[in-house]
Amino acid sequence: MPIGQSWEAVIGLEVHAQLLTVSKLFCACDTTFGAPPNTHVCPTCLGLPGALPALNAEAVRMAVKAALALGGEVQAQSRFARKNYFYPDLPKGYQISQYDEPFCLGGALEITLPPARGEGNSRVKVARLTRIHMEEDAGKNLHDVFGSSVVDLNRAGVPLIEIVGEPDLRSSEEAAEYLRALREELVFLGINDGNLEEGSLRCDANVSIRPAGESKLGTRVELKNINSFRFVEKAIGSEIERQKDVLETGGRVVAETRGWDENTNTTYSLRSKETAQDYRYFPEPDLPPLMLDKDFIERMRAELGESPRQKRVRFVEELGLTAQAAAVLSQHPRTSAFFEEAAMLFGEPRKIANFIQSEVLRDVTTQGLQAKIPISSQQLASILGLVRSGKISGKQAKELYAKIKFTGHDPVTMALEVGMSQVTDPKAIEEVCAKVMADNPKQLADLKAGKTVLLGFFVGQVMKATKGSANPEIVNTTLARLLGTAQ
Ligand code: ADP
Ligand code: MG
Ligand code: ZN
Repeated sequence: MPIGQSWEAVIGLEVHAQLLTVSKLFCACDTTFGAPPNTHVCPTCLGLPGALPALNAEAVRMAVKAALALGGEVQAQSRFARKNYFYPDLPKGYQISQYDEPFCLGGALEITLPPARGEGNSRVKVARLTRIHMEEDAGKNLHDVFGSSVVDLNRAGVPLIEIVGEPDLRSSEEAAEYLRALREELVFLGINDGNLEEGSLRCDANVSIRPAGESKLGTRVELKNINSFRFVEKAIGSEIERQKDVLETGGRVVAETRGWDENTNTTYSLRSKETAQDYRYFPEPDLPPLMLDKDFIERMRAELGESPRQKRVRFVEELGLTAQAAAVLSQHPRTSAFFEEAAMLFGEPRKIANFIQSEVLRDVTTQGLQAKIPISSQQLASILGLVRSGKISGKQAKELYAKIKFTGHDPVTMALEVGMSQVTDPKAIEEVCAKVMADNPKQLADLKAGKTVLLGFFVGQVMKATKGSANPEIVNTTLARLLGTAQ
């Protein structure tokens, strides 16, 4: 290939998502993360002879909801299959998965991309899904520094869905955005906690390149288990560059599986596809076909909440937020619920949104689907209620928030206790204004000479002198009157 050739990258992601059920896919064992090794096991997930699998109905409900939210076609009949391979973390010697009859076909994910060069609007792209299937997770091998290995089977049998995307993505940025949008969808459904670092969401990326304009797909490389958002984009980007180098120096890309080395920022070969295993898939004889009737599917559809995308549109169109505020306030299901409750109690969504963004969000910590929010929606509505009724100033509202956060204290009681009140007495404000004018003769002279921007300086000085307790409107009109700048 000549140097200077322009290339097009082609990427398709395979994403594994752990379903947040309380028990495993085929037995009643607990799925809680972080228990002592091998305490959540039973004959079924240990693969002991004679133990039989029984399908977890809750896992099916969650999987079907994911499929419907992603616009997939849930199949009336699907089948589990055995995927056979030998590895110590797989006690049965096979994984129960779905193969040629997955429970969901098709679907699509809408992703929002930054504007193309020279254009103002962000682009929306629809990335198609190939299929979604259910399968059980394997255990986890742990290796110590002395070279010996042990296996923890607590995770063996935990329910997963695998979401296979069509090769529709054209850059590492598109791939990262796809993963972000998919994660958001699953997290808002409440079926996955979105944690890449802990492995509850896992991503394999298939990457190839082809000459721009070519319609045939190039040879693909599969990047395994990229465990953070930062790495998804970096790993794919680096792999695209590597493939370009290979082709531009006369080589050919080999079909293989590669890993990501975060220290050197490069991918490295794990195994070649030529020696790919034959998994000898066959239908699971211990489970009947999975039959999902229309009524069940429609019931699941009715249980779907609003999607994060719909939420953002509603925040803008019905609640009057800016697109930016809507995006920030729909990043986590708990913070968006907090915002909506407070907005409903208070009645002025934009004021609530501003206060959450400027004060509350920096104190919010999230872990998976949980979020620690420093005050309740009632407390927030009550703080801003004090501002609305003129009892405290905006600056005092921030102080009041800082005083009551994480304490559960009632804002009204606290404001009384610390003697917070807004100065609305025109006489008192006029005194302060007069003093500030006397204290700043130079600025006063400049202002009178026409430098009107100094009005802001005087307002600031009065607010400072009153520790933010003066009513800003009264300060403004008083100053304007005294300075003779009133219209
Ligand atoms: P496997 O099961 O071996 O991983 P599949 O054919 O099911 O193989 O493909 C899996 C993923 O690879 C899909 O996400 C698909 O979009 C992607 N893919 C297939 N061919 C290519 C290609 N030439 N370049 C990039 N991605 C590809
Ligand atoms: Mg694959
Ligand atoms: Zn078990």
